[in-house]
Amino acid sequence: MLNIILCGAPGCGKGTQSALLVEKYGLKHLSTGDLLRAEMQSGSEVGQKASEFISQGNLVPDAMIIEILLKAVDTYSKDAAGFILDGFPRTVEQAIALEKAFEERNNKISFLIDIQVEREELITRLLKRGETSGRSDDNLETIKKRLEIYEEKTAPVNDFYKGLNKYFAIDGIGQIEEIFGRISSVIDSSK
Ligand code: AMP
Repeated sequence: MLNIILCGAPGCGKGTQSALLVEKYGLKHLSTGDLLRAEMQSGSEVGQKASEFISQGNLVPDAMIIEILLKAVDTYSKDAAGFILDGFPRTVEQAIALEKAFEERNNKISFLIDIQVEREELITRLLKRGETSGRSDDNLETIKKRLEIYEEKTAPVNDFYKGLNKYFAIDGIGQIEEIFGRISSVIDSSK
């Protein structure tokens, strides 16, 4: 199975690239942000708990998101050729839990791809997205908070995967197809 973590700061293009990867490699896309927004829309207890964290730009608690992610993995494992994990893991604790859970399921994470985009460009993209996304967290104050949290909590996940020799970085600036080409080269050369 090909199980890829797509990592990078908010606004780096993870969602856009995931959609293209689904098409080319037949992988199942699991976005923890999308899973949480679906919970919020349904008005579930989990969704209600998550909404405050999300609208303030904070991460939801590890235990909550690990449970949501693994439930989705178990739901789709039988039919999927593999997974693209988008927005997970966002802390080293989540990464450790993910590695352990996949091992217990006789599966493994293939590698992490880090889509690199500089801060000013991320802010420009997210503000633009905020004009139409309707997301409670696409405003300047919350965007800055999310970028700070990315540096503090999520960037160490990259180091964790470097330590496992499962880390690849690509340049996230350019045309969508161009960036997709860079990601595809990493995947194809790993086969
Ligand atoms: P995203 O759509 O990936 O930008 O996620 C939107 C928001 O959902 C984040 O800012 C967090 O509040 C929350 N979230 C998504 N994934 C995670 C995760 N793996 N751990 C903690 N919080 C998450």
